Order: sequence, then structure tokens, then C-alpha cells
Amino acid sequence: MQPLTNRAKPVDRRPMTLVERIYLWNIFKGMMITLKHLFKRKATISYPEQKRPFSPVFRGLHILNRDEEGRERCTACGLCALACPAEAITMEAAERKKGEEHLYREEKYAARYEINMLRCIFCGLCEEACPKDAIYLSETFAPANYQRKGFIYGKKDLLIPHPKEDPEAYKKALGNRYKQSQNAN
Ligand code: SF4
Ligand code: SF4
Repeated sequence: MQPLTNRAKPVDRRPMTLVERIYLWNIFKGMMITLKHLFKRKATISYPEQKRPFSPVFRGLHILNRDEEGRERCTACGLCALACPAEAITMEAAERKKGEEHLYREEKYAARYEINMLRCIFCGLCEEACPKDAIYLSETFAPANYQRKGFIYGKKDLLIPHPKEDPEAYKKALGNRYKQSQNAN
């Protein structure tokens, strides 16, 4: 029968020689390949001790942002939820009470804010839709979990650390955004 391509290789059916039958030569050839790779640059790293830097365009886990005073920026306008193609965001709005000005930047805030990370496709449209710079996709990813409910992230999981109470954690959560803001000043 005529082959469709010329890629087929005929099988070598010659009887094995003595050297081939004792396999030592083949084992030696295999060991040489292993030895050659010992001196090559490693393709792997010792994760989690070593970590690769993320690409500047990496879109990871969401962060709910605060302003420089530590007040929550989100005003529960719902634009992020509206923009989300995966319908992953839900929220409940509440009105800021007297004396809560140091907690919430706007008169309306998100009393409940949830993202279902199993639905999210990390497209970044919520970040683009937000008029208050209140949400952004950070340089980290959602850790693995055994239960589906572990992937429903609430406000306590999403809120960035307080810039005054924990400045180091705040800077770390901002990542590249912090460096960019420093360069812009
Ligand atoms: S990144 Fe995209 S899919 Fe995920 S919550 Fe934001 S808009 Fe929705
Ligand atoms: S994160 Fe931004 S877009 Fe979403 S509800 Fe809050 S202020 Fe509105």
C-alpha cells in the first residue's frame, strides 16, 4: 500500500549482535546522555524556595485597594460586576455612618464583596471598569484548595493590608504598582 507521507520508518529486523544482546553498550549510551545533562543549565528551579519573576502583564489574584490613608476605595457602584463576563463578582452596598469616614473613602461602600475564583477567567475587565482604582489584579495567584467554598474570596481575603498599620505588607501587595507610583513621583 502506498504510504500517505514519507515519515514512516521501516523496522530494523536484523538479529541482535552479541554487544546488543548484553545491553551494556545501550546502558552506557544512556548514562552518557544523563552525564551530558548534569553540566547543562537547569530548566527547573527549586520552588517554593526559588520563584520566577512574573511577567509585567501577569494578571493574578484580585486586591481590593485602599487609599493612602487606609480607607477602602470601593464605593459599591457595581460596575466591575457588570463588566465581568463570568459573573464572578457579587456585592452588597451599605451607607457610611457618621464616624466611619476613616474606614471608607466614599459615602457608599461594599459591606460584602465576593469573587468566585472558580468562575473568574482573570481577564482584568473588572479592573478596567472600576472608576475608583478600587480593584486590581495582583502578581500572585489563588492557592489550591480542597473545597469549592475555599475559592469564594470575601472582603477579608481581598482587602489590601493597611498602608499605615502594615506598610511592608501593603508595599508587597502593590508589587509593581508601588514601584511605578514611586517612579511617577
Ligand atoms: S478578572 Fe474578569 S472574570 Fe475575573 S472577576 Fe474580573 S472581570 Fe470577572
Ligand atoms: S471595585 Fe470599583 S467598580 Fe467595583 S464596585 Fe467597587 S468601586 Fe465600583
